[in-house]
Amino acid sequence: MGDPKGFLTVGREDWPRRPVEERVHDWQEVYVPGALLPIIGKQADRCMDCGIPFCHQACPLGNLIPEWNDLVARDDWWAAADRLHATNNFPEFTGRLCPAPCESGCVLAINQPAVTIKNVEVAIADRIWDEGWAVPQPPDRLTGKVVAVIGSGPTGLAAAQQLTRAGHTVVVYERDDRIGGLLRYGIPEFKMEKVHLERRLGQMKAEGTKFRTSVTVGRDLTAAELRKRYDAILLATGATAWRGLPLPGRELDGVHQAMEYLPLANKVCEGDLPANPLSAKDRHVVIIGGGDTGADCLGTAVREGAVSVSQLDIYPQPAADRDEQAEPWPVHPKIYRLSAAHEEARDLATAPQADADARLFKASTLRFTGDEQGRVRELHLVEVDAERRPRPDSERALRADLVLLALGFSGPDRSDGLIDALALDLDGRGVLVRDAEFATKVPGVFAAGDAARGQSLIVWAIAEGRAAAASMDRYLTGRTTLPSPIGPTDRPLTA
Ligand SMILES: Cc1cc2nc3c(=O)[nH]c(=O)nc-3n(C[C@H](O)[C@H](O)[C@H](O)COP(=O)(O)OP(=O)(O)OC[C@H]3O[C@@H](n4cnc5c(N)ncnc54)[C@H](O)[C@@H]3O)c2cc1C
Ligand code: SF4
Repeated sequence: MGDPKGFLTVGREDWPRRPVEERVHDWQEVYVPGALLPIIGKQADRCMDCGIPFCHQACPLGNLIPEWNDLVARDDWWAAADRLHATNNFPEFTGRLCPAPCESGCVLAINQPAVTIKNVEVAIADRIWDEGWAVPQPPDRLTGKVVAVIGSGPTGLAAAQQLTRAGHTVVVYERDDRIGGLLRYGIPEFKMEKVHLERRLGQMKAEGTKFRTSVTVGRDLTAAELRKRYDAILLATGATAWRGLPLPGRELDGVHQAMEYLPLANKVCEGDLPANPLSAKDRHVVIIGGGDTGADCLGTAVREGAVSVSQLDIYPQPAADRDEQAEPWPVHPKIYRLSAAHEEARDLATAPQADADARLFKASTLRFTGDEQGRVRELHLVEVDAERRPRPDSERALRADLVLLALGFSGPDRSDGLIDALALDLDGRGVLVRDAEFATKVPGVFAAGDAARGQSLIVWAIAEGRAAAASMDRYLTGRTTLPSPIGPTDRPLTA
């Protein structure tokens, strides 16, 4: 701890976002470039170096937060980088995208704003690349074992990097035309520019990891071929089977799944398409679903030039502060959070009928109605109580010529036949069953990430990939020195 009184003398200061009016006209990240470094040393100095650091407990990766806070406060960036990389393969992803359960668990958060842990993390991560410290770490020797990783999201990438560095020959298969999973085609550029992904992939290729894109395993490469070719297989295929909304009018033109819309917007940013075929430009947009995916649709629709954008959430508006009874410290609470996209919607008043920013709370959709051409024109909704019972006389209609369904995901996509061909079990939630070693019932076949945990977060995906890699290394060689930060049944802290 550089200054033992830092938490008493310095207030919390976050990395400032660019002005809304400026940033909605481009796709770059929302933060002011270069504005974090001058403030981050003092912010790191607010850390109390707690004897029992709850920030560390709250992070699935077990990030060594007090250690790197101290090192940043002392201006020892190289050592901070070393400690950060000790537990996290991709801190530039989590530093930008994680909802930071560590900050909810920070001891300082009991009676004042938490340490800006996520900002410290991203400052170190960016410094790592600026200084050229993310050098490839190829293995000293090869084990002769070959491993297939199916799926190139954060789970598959973390597992692949760990296994490659342990000396195995790793091939990552991806059905999309580019590597990255939801980091590539789900999460928009304004939340994380793809340059961060590309740089990491460059490092992984230099270490020896092999990538095969546009290969749908189960169809282009059968389960039998896969088992014959590889000593071990990791299914990191994500939970990409989206939830539907079978209501009258669902078939109308202009009603789409969020994950039909967001990948196209990302492909425009990649330069593959001149414009989004489902573009929100000049349209009244309604997003159904109050989560992260909905917020990503919101920010994207605003940038595409929508006339109006509303976001429907079936739950009541959360309180500004945590409920000390239901979700006491150090639990990550459900509170009202203003993401960058919501801030933009609020300032630009994109949803005149909203309760807050673009959001209409306690809103349940009844049906969609369209015009003679079969195109959606209105969304009819009703207000509901906590038990989702409609409030009498609360039905109303919103103009809508683009409706985006962001209702979450039910589990892994089975349309490729891979799960059935391997005769793998799914549990009651529809996700892959695995044992304490991340192993399925088929010898040599392991499962990790959203495919087995259910839809989750990038930080959990990286932790799953690291832990599954340790189990696979042990399976292949009889021992392992790879870290295993979580078990398959570990869950976030609850009250
Ligand atoms: C729009 C959106 C925004 C999100 N934003 C955030 C955020 O800001 N912060 C956060 O922490 N989390 C966020 N999440 C959640 C997070 O992205 C996921 O929890 C995480 O990506 C899961 O990682 P994964 O590697 O398990 O799966 P995925 O990232 O889904 O990757 C699985 C990959 O497997 C591939 N695949 C599937 N089947 C096959 C097959 N048969 N053959 C070959 N390849 C196959 C898929 O194409 C995909 O690329 C978001 C999710 C969505 C949908
Ligand atoms: S809980 Fe907060 S104050 Fe304590 S060590 Fe972690 S970041 Fe520092």
